[in-house]
Amino acid sequence: MGKYIGSSCRLCRREGEKLFLKGSRCTTHRCAFDRRAYAPGEHGAGRRSKLSNYGLQLREKQKVKRTYGLYEKQFRNYFAKAARGKGVTGEVLLQFLERRLDNVIYRLGFCTSRRQARQLVNHGFVFVNDHRVNIPSFLIKQNDEIFIQFKKKGKQNVDDNIKTTQDRAVPEWLEVDQAHYKAKVKRLPEREDVGFPVNEQLIVELYSR
Ligand code: SF4
Repeated sequence: MGKYIGSSCRLCRREGEKLFLKGSRCTTHRCAFDRRAYAPGEHGAGRRSKLSNYGLQLREKQKVKRTYGLYEKQFRNYFAKAARGKGVTGEVLLQFLERRLDNVIYRLGFCTSRRQARQLVNHGFVFVNDHRVNIPSFLIKQNDEIFIQFKKKGKQNVDDNIKTTQDRAVPEWLEVDQAHYKAKVKRLPEREDVGFPVNEQLIVELYSR
């Protein structure tokens, strides 16, 4: 499937909940979901049919995929990897998603959205264990040390983001020193570290059909 170039807010409205895809805008009165909490489209306001089992499974998968900003193929690959690995498939899947470097930068409060974090990584600002890593899907490991090194620009943006995300708690598995733009992975994320409500079993059921 190609790149989605439509409105991010439509995705929240389609999933019926806030996915926080637009950073600081999501917590202001400009949030489209807060103003129109119904599905997008001409008949979105009037039609809210009861979803079938398949519909519920599909919506849950789409929600998680869109929250992390992934394509279907990437998401499926994570699922296949999780299914092959040890542990409960749904939980391992979420652990993979949380371990992505773009997600880690977002959760550390250096960026207001995962999309913004992906850009920071893509542009070569992020180092892991003294090596520049410009791959957003890079999976962090326990004890990895992460820091942001600025080029001519960028510092002011990250400083602004840190201020904006002050109210957002940094998860326990990460240790952050925002003043010096660095962090450490204390341990790998666990199921309860996922920062939004998700029923991963529905995703497992969908892909096991
Ligand atoms: Fe979703 Fe609201 Fe953010 Fe738009 S502004 S992406 S509707 S949470």
